[in-house]
Amino acid sequence: MGPPHELDDEARTLLSGERAALEAGLADAEHAVDDVRRARSDADADDEHDPEGSTLSQQWSHTHGLVVSLRERLAENAAAVARLDAGTYGVCVRCGQPVGAARLGARPSAALCVACASR
Ligand SMILES: [Zn+2]
Repeated sequence: MGPPHELDDEARTLLSGERAALEAGLADAEHAVDDVRRARSDADADDEHDPEGSTLSQQWSHTHGLVVSLRERLAENAAAVARLDAGTYGVCVRCGQPVGAARLGARPSAALCVACASR
């Protein structure tokens, strides 16, 4: 195989590195969600009107939001691996134009070219 195969290997390496980082971040974020949930139920047991309650709500929505966005990015990563397997990696899923090497280097799981992503 020629250069395209080498590019696929590189993409696969980038994607598996990204996935490992996302999974580690997700594990941390899920722990944080559990901690906040536990703290909240303790706070509720003590006093429903505890001023700490609103801080904990903010913490919960922040950590929960982080979990949601990391899960979305893991799904994007899995979809990029599937495109790699299908031979369509690096092609914009919307317009069919190349996503671009610079963009893929910065964000290996990018599904859209710059033009489509900014639309
Ligand atoms: Zn596009």
